[in-house]
Amino acid sequence: MADQLPSRSENFSEWYNTIVQRADLADYGAAKGTMIIKPYGYALWENIQTYLDKRFKKHGAKNAFFPTFIPLSYIQREKEHVEGFTPNLWLVASGGGETLEEPYAVRPTSETTINMTVRNWIHSYRDLPLLLNLWNSCFRYELRTRLFLRTSEFLWQEGHTFHASWDEANEYALAILTDAYLDFYANAAAMPSLAGRKSEKEKFPGADITYTLEQMMGDGRALQGCTAHNLGHNFAKSFDIRYLDRGNELQYAATASWGLSTRAIGAILMTHGDDKGLLMPPRIAPTQIVIVPIFGKHADPAPVLAAAKQLARELADYRVEIDARDDKSPGFKFNDWEMRGVPLRIEIGPKDIEKNQVVLARRDTGEKKFVSNAELLAQVAQTLDSIHDTLYARAKKFQDDHTFSVDTYAEFQARTAGEGGAGFLMAHWCGNRECETAIQQETKATIRCIPFVQTKEAGKCIRCDGASQERVVFAKAY
Ligand SMILES: [Zn+2]
Repeated sequence: MADQLPSRSENFSEWYNTIVQRADLADYGAAKGTMIIKPYGYALWENIQTYLDKRFKKHGAKNAFFPTFIPLSYIQREKEHVEGFTPNLWLVASGGGETLEEPYAVRPTSETTINMTVRNWIHSYRDLPLLLNLWNSCFRYELRTRLFLRTSEFLWQEGHTFHASWDEANEYALAILTDAYLDFYANAAAMPSLAGRKSEKEKFPGADITYTLEQMMGDGRALQGCTAHNLGHNFAKSFDIRYLDRGNELQYAATASWGLSTRAIGAILMTHGDDKGLLMPPRIAPTQIVIVPIFGKHADPAPVLAAAKQLARELADYRVEIDARDDKSPGFKFNDWEMRGVPLRIEIGPKDIEKNQVVLARRDTGEKKFVSNAELLAQVAQTLDSIHDTLYARAKKFQDDHTFSVDTYAEFQARTAGEGGAGFLMAHWCGNRECETAIQQETKATIRCIPFVQTKEAGKCIRCDGASQERVVFAKAY
């Protein structure tokens, strides 16, 4: 038996750090703060990419590539943007042994370099909207790192879109948030989201509005699952992106940008799982089904292996693995695949072959049942859907059970005390940045979002008693 996993319920952080490495998802790279994504983790990312890429294309976005090196002067062109990104910027000062005349920033995000380029692509209203998406990695210097959650380089997609009007940019950002990201989290990752907009303090540097999906992790902390920004005319003005409208008048374009990164993998791992290990949502699980042939002690293994291979051929529409290791017991294999979070296991032994049946075992409930070969395909499809539904329902119940309406600062402080997460705290806030900063300093809780859906209700700011028209969502966050 391998070392016992740390308990998820008792030591969530240790559980996460151990499982990411033990399940062969990722490891630290040689350069400080960098991440190696191993095949099992990368397969999960590929499934996320495939799901999202289709939806972006449905909304008209086309994939492109822009360089990793960005002249520093580009980054400095938008004032709020440069202030926001400078603390995390990597710079290249020399190349080929020569000091560069102007250092290059190593892409923290591509707004600046794209804007400098497409200003030459956009001339008239006929060139709009221009809808681009990039699949690449970006670089942010980080002191404290954690696999998938915070590393100096991570994978993501960044969408950059150019529109004729502020309203159009806004609509597009919202469409991506709901039709692509919200849909992905709900229908692929089996995760509920809280949708809303960021406060002025928490929004993207250079944006008019930042929209976000916030999710609750298994320890009651929040994680920002993605963002979509309406950049209004800010970047278009800094980079002079203008077009001739139908009346032949010069107008500034409006822009939007939107992104989802490999942090989503961290979110998936921290939402689902238990003391046995991970629990991959079936629709994007790297391996959806593992077939474990049960070789009888003295029987010939060949017919069982052949039957397992035949099963895998029948299940060709799924991502299937056969665990044919001959030096490991079935019990060891069961634990191993449960730790890796494979949603469905099929066991087949000599007796099952005789009876034309297999055993289906669910990772989420532990339930096992015999299924005849004739019913196998229908049962597999139904069971994977049922696992998806169960995971979503569990995550939703956890989120609901850890969402609190808080009306006094004493209660707010009590709920945020200690090291653990505090859940989502729905509280009134006056709208002042100073008050928001003070709350963060005193409790480590930040405003995660001002939710789209809520009942309008006047109240008093929990900290200063100032007037408030709606509740905002505070949480301790990753
Ligand atoms: Zn206040």
